[in-house]
Amino acid sequence: MPNQISNTLKGYCPHCFTSRNFNLDERRGAIINCANCEKNFTVLDSEKIILSEITEGMCPHCGSGVHFTLQQRAGSPVLCVKCKNDFLLSDIHILPKYSEINYVKKLEELMSPNGKVGRKEFLYSYFGIALGNFVFITFLVAIFGNTNEYMLSSILTLIVFLAWGISAWAVICLGIRRLRDINEPPATIIVAFIPILNIILLLWLLLTPSKNK
Ligand SMILES: [Zn+2]
Ligand SMILES: [Zn+2]
Repeated sequence: MPNQISNTLKGYCPHCFTSRNFNLDERRGAIINCANCEKNFTVLDSEKIILSEITEGMCPHCGSGVHFTLQQRAGSPVLCVKCKNDFLLSDIHILPKYSEINYVKKLEELMSPNGKVGRKEFLYSYFGIALGNFVFITFLVAIFGNTNEYMLSSILTLIVFLAWGISAWAVICLGIRRLRDINEPPATIIVAFIPILNIILLLWLLLTPSKNK
């Protein structure tokens, strides 16, 4: 196929996996001399490389996380630095990507008064925050509570105050989102600061089903 021009515009050197753009001559079949490893190849050789989309995974022997090089993504064996065993990319367990878990987004949602929240999520989040806060503060006090050191007890007080403040904010945001979900004005959250009425508000928020406009 001497006159056929390959559609491949970009590819990898099959020897060292350096990526490069192909010019017209190279796409017609001219020999390419790799600028990195100085070995020769053609666009056709480059097209034979199948590079795995997987960039990180778990060693099937010991379970530690491994990042893959281009060579390994093209099929070279991977040597685990932890357990010194080798394996192929096709043997691995894929790690969930950080962006897929999206803890950051979840946390942002939790700390924001925007949007709506349903009954179930409100219930879980509310008691999750309350329990988390309780456990955290109890834990701190149990470990450092008896200290006579002024610096340490000041820091402890500050941390407890911060933890309390952050969870109070999260609960207020949660309440505002739940109020929006049941078509009530978000300003109703003011009731949360009035004793006894705040308990009624909580029950109301826990029990009222969502309303869609
Ligand atoms: Zn090369
Ligand atoms: Zn390993």
